[in-house]
Amino acid sequence: MNIQIAPNDISHVIEADKANVWHHLMQHAAFETVDPRIIVEGKGLRVWDATGREMIDAVSGGVWTVNVGYGRARIADAVRDQLVKMNFFAAAAGSIPAALFAERLIEKMPGMSRVYYSNSGSEANEKAYKIIRQIAHKRYGGKKHKILYRERDYHGTTIGALASCGQPERAAQYGPFPPGFVSVPHCLEYRSQWGDVPDYGVRAAREIERVILEEGPDTVGGIVLEPITAGGGVIVPPEGYWETVQEICTKYDVLLHIDEVVCGLGRTGQWFGYQNFGIKPDLVTMAKGVASGYAAISCTVTTERVFDMFKDDPSDPLGYFRDISTFGGCTAGPAAALENMAIIEDEDLLENTLVRGEQLGNGLEALKSRHAIVGDVRGMGLFWGVELVADRETREPLPEKTVAAVVAAAGARGVIIGMTNRSLPGYNNTLCLSPALIATAAEIDTIVEAIDGALTEVGATL
Ligand code: PLP
Repeated sequence: MNIQIAPNDISHVIEADKANVWHHLMQHAAFETVDPRIIVEGKGLRVWDATGREMIDAVSGGVWTVNVGYGRARIADAVRDQLVKMNFFAAAAGSIPAALFAERLIEKMPGMSRVYYSNSGSEANEKAYKIIRQIAHKRYGGKKHKILYRERDYHGTTIGALASCGQPERAAQYGPFPPGFVSVPHCLEYRSQWGDVPDYGVRAAREIERVILEEGPDTVGGIVLEPITAGGGVIVPPEGYWETVQEICTKYDVLLHIDEVVCGLGRTGQWFGYQNFGIKPDLVTMAKGVASGYAAISCTVTTERVFDMFKDDPSDPLGYFRDISTFGGCTAGPAAALENMAIIEDEDLLENTLVRGEQLGNGLEALKSRHAIVGDVRGMGLFWGVELVADRETREPLPEKTVAAVVAAAGARGVIIGMTNRSLPGYNNTLCLSPALIATAAEIDTIVEAIDGALTEVGATL
């Protein structure tokens, strides 16, 4: 790869960044002490930084996003052509790519029917919450307005999304939050709240029923859940969980909102995470992998039943969905998304995700027998977490700085891996792996070898 930045230009870029950019999620002291990592080029799974260093990106752009890999001229060309032809028109007007992508998306989502466009995962979730709230007003006099969310789940960064945040570190110091959001217990069996219980999945789901009954079924209108919790620990809900959730939602007339911002499109080897579990959602939100980071786009998808609840009613002139997202009218997003989806199909990437996912899962599982600090390995498709512990018996979490040392040691071996959100012990000790869906067998081996080496290096210091 030919990096065409002159050395003095690189130092200028770094100075400009240090002087002017407020980076995401960065502790403040680092702005003065650490040179920013500037990524200048990408191809496939590989990225090059400003010093010309090549790395394998095992986290798809840091946050589970670049599902079809870097350097896709096909997507860039489609976006360019679309922008030159017609870049933007919002409000009640449509566009060719928006209509065609919605049609293709709905084909992949049996039972779903309508696509509402916006720009980010947080925004897509806010739209879903507004839909649930407005239904509460239209049908239940405003009473059935509460939205349940689960411990450890994350749904975005806006104040409304943080009101439904199951990760205390993300929400701390940004309150007060709007009322009407109520948490339910997480479903991570490895950290069971009830000891060694039979049917943990059913037990955890029954907690949702308990909360609904405590709050009053006539006050709970919806529940938002990640199909597989991502930043909160890469948690695949155990057997029995989803069937019980579905049954409870039906019983108490609670709208089921699945947040697919990380799992869609294709990350688990199905188009969407919920499709692994036979769930029938009322609302589905998605963002990151919809256009693999080539353009900003998110979607809030609903069933026809939900859409129908907004039918014109002469007695309620405010009864239609009174929402707009200016850049939901930008055509770059759906143009990129159409091409992104076509690549997943043309290159059979769902199948590749299943095959390479099994290889990655087996490789990570094998690390358990080699490293005492590997407590639990969880995941599916190309979406895995490795929970690190100081003691396997007590399951005491490995401290955050030691987990960060493992991430750094993998980086020193040329592989970028992630860790779950910095927060309380038990939340911040899981390594995250989510390579692009195009990963080859050799690349998966390289990723596992780098983690193996990193665990050996850090394990020797403990
Ligand atoms: N939902 C989930 C499950 C996420 O992981 C994220 C971001 O990481 C979001 C929502 C928020 O998406 P965005 O950062 O695009 O607003």
